[in-house]
Order: sequence, then C-alpha cells, then structure tokens
Amino acid sequence: MQLHRLSLRQKTIAMSAAVFRLLGERSLQRAPTAGALRIAAPAATARSLHVGEPSRVADKSYKFVVCGAGPGGLAVASSLGRRFGEKSIAIIEPADYHYYQPMWTLVGCGIKTLEDSRRKMADFMPPQADWLQTSVTGFRPNENIVETADGSTVKYDYLIVAVGLQIDYGKIKGLPEALEDPNSMVSTNYSSLYAPKTFENVRRFKGGHALFTFPTIPIKCPGAPQKIMYLAEDYWRRNGMKENTKISFNTTLGVIFPVKKYADVLQGIVKERGITVNYQHKLLEVLGDKREAVFELLAEDKQGETITVPYDFLHATPPMAPLDFMVGQPISDQLGWVDVDPKTLQHKKYGVFSCSVI
Ligand SMILES: Cc1cc2nc3c(=O)[nH]c(=O)nc-3n(C[C@H](O)[C@H](O)[C@H](O)COP(=O)(O)OP(=O)(O)OC[C@H]3O[C@@H](n4cnc5c(N)ncnc54)[C@H](O)[C@@H]3O)c2cc1C
Repeated sequence: MQLHRLSLRQKTIAMSAAVFRLLGERSLQRAPTAGALRIAAPAATARSLHVGEPSRVADKSYKFVVCGAGPGGLAVASSLGRRFGEKSIAIIEPADYHYYQPMWTLVGCGIKTLEDSRRKMADFMPPQADWLQTSVTGFRPNENIVETADGSTVKYDYLIVAVGLQIDYGKIKGLPEALEDPNSMVSTNYSSLYAPKTFENVRRFKGGHALFTFPTIPIKCPGAPQKIMYLAEDYWRRNGMKENTKISFNTTLGVIFPVKKYADVLQGIVKERGITVNYQHKLLEVLGDKREAVFELLAEDKQGETITVPYDFLHATPPMAPLDFMVGQPISDQLGWVDVDPKTLQHKKYGVFSCSVI
C-alpha cells in the first residue's frame, strides 16, 4: 500500500484500522451483547515503559492522546471516542479555528471564500475528548509522555501524532517577498494567507504567460497544483482571455502525475486545453520586481543548468517539510517525519501512530 496514493478518508480509515488492530491483539475483547469494545486488560500495563530513566509523574493521563486536530487527528479521535467513551482521549491542539484546506482550491478560483473553509475548533471536538489547548513541544516515548508548551506533561497508553507539516516558502528565493507584495501576481493556494490572492490575480490577469509549479515531493495533495490551473484556465476561457494566454505547468517530476491511471487522463486534458507541461523543472527563485521565475533543470543531460522564464501570473507550490519541533524527536526519522511503518502507520519502535499529512 502506498499512502500517498490514498485519499484523506482512506488514510484515516487505514490509520484507525491500524490502531484497532493493535488494540485488538493486545488488550480488547468484543462485548458479546452490545457489540461495543470493552477493555480486558489495561494496555498501560503492557506498554508503560521506563527504560533506564527516572519515572516522572505526568500532569494528566489518558488512554489515547491525539496531537493535532486537523482532519487526521479529528477523524481518529472521533472514531476512538465513540468506542471508548468519555475521558479516554485528550486532543492537544493550540488553534482556535480549524481550516478545511481542500476548499482553498475553490477559494483560489472564487467559488468559495476563505471564511467558508473556517470553523471554530470547538465545534469539531469529539464530545468524549478533553481538548488541551496548547502545543506539543516534545515526546518522551520511553515514558509514554508528551511535553506541552504550557509546561505540563500528558501521559498516554497510545499516542497518535497528526500535527501536519510546514510549507517551506524560504526554500525558494524571493518567493516570501513576492507573496507578500499585493502587485506581484504571485500566489499560492497552500496557505490561508494567500489563497484569496490567487483569485484576485486570476481576475486581474489580462493575458500573457500563466505559470504553475510543482515542487520536489513529498507534498500534501499533489493534485492541488494542477486543480487550480484547470480552474483558472476555465475562468480565463469563459471570460474571453484564452486567445492571448499561454499556460505552462512546470513540475520537478518526469510525469504529469505519479499515478499512471490519472496521468493518462490528465495528458488528454492538458492537450485539449493547450497547456504546456515542462518536466523536471524545479522553481529556484522568483524575481518579483521583474516578474521572472528561475528554474533548475533536473534532466540528466541538463544538470546544473538554469533557465529564466517571464510570467504574468504565477501560482507557486512551495516545497514542504516536517515541523521544526519534530526534527530530532525520538519518534522522528532523520528528516523529522514520524518514523512509522507505511503499511500500518504504527511507529517502528513505540506505541505511537501517525496519520498526518500527505
Ligand atoms: C490547497 C489544498 C488543497 C487540498 N486538496 C485536497 C484534496 O482535494 N483531497 C485531500 O485528500 N487532501 C487535500 N489537501 C490536503 C489536506 O488538506 C491535508 O492532507 C490535511 O489537511 C492533512 O491533515 P492533517 O490532520 O495531517 O494536518 P493539518 O490539517 O495540517 O492539521 C494539523 C493540526 O495540527 C496542529 N498542530 C500543529 N503543530 C502542533 C503542535 N506542536 N501541537 C499540537 N498541534 C499542532 C495544527 O494547528 C493543525 O490543527 C489539500 C491541501 C491544500 C493546502
């Protein structure tokens, strides 16, 4: 199973299945009458580990602790809450608002507003869960403890990490400045700050070169960089702008989409709409004042070469990375991603799961 090929819903189901598989094997029996799960032996007995370290008393203690209340964390917490009931779960989440990010594609082409994608976090919290409104700052997996920004600790039997990722704007020279400049015609749907600007630019565009980019992977929703391109193309076509417009999709990959079934269909769509696809093009720099984009060419016979391309509209998809605080954590791999088995989403060493991100 390759996780990046699954939908958000499929990923969540896979994650829940992994948690329940583990719990089923270790500590749970199905109640014969009601069909509800009941706890046969406390999982903590088997899984509370104090390996060569002084044990510390946690401020709070739960069977499940979920870090992050994006779609990943909320879906798993809701599912667990229905089965295990009140006080079994804590969700650690600092934000007051939850954003439904897939809607930002529609914000970028004016079908929805940013406000439509925003809901009060409190409205989504599963009723059985305690919401601890603070940030996770560290993990002590040998003690089954997470540390939080308010200086407290939370103890768990099972930990689910779903804190998302960060958009690494700074990896593209000049991009942060161009995004901030209201007249640059540069935007990205990958942020609540700039998705509304995409639609402003779509409306303001009066023809010329419309440039869309796709960075090095992994990124979340690898379809989104193309979805906004097709929606913008549709807008320009319907508003009589297509004649004097050139659209290009510039991707680091050697294919239009990593899954062949979809790539075959997309090839037909770009042909039909007259969109040029430039493969193995990596956006290096945005020269906002000149409206030029610098690309590194990744093809073997062109390595080290760069080209500079003028644009009149630029939708950039920046590279993405683990959150800074995840780098160097005992549950993280060398890059900072939670080090899980991709087939089960369970950590390779600890009673920790991750359902985040891609
Ligand atoms: C433009 C766009 C279009 C998309 N389209 C689609 C689509 O069509 N289909 C699809 O499946 N996906 C799509 N996605 C991707 C989808 O939105 C993400 O995969 C999804 O939001 C990831 O969920 P998550 O819960 O892992 O992380 P997030 O949604 O990023 O949530 C992470 C949560 O963790 C919290 N957090 C961060 N740091 C901490 C901390 N230190 N402690 C505690 N909590 C913390 C954050 O506040 C946040 O609430 C799209 C994304 C974008 C940007």
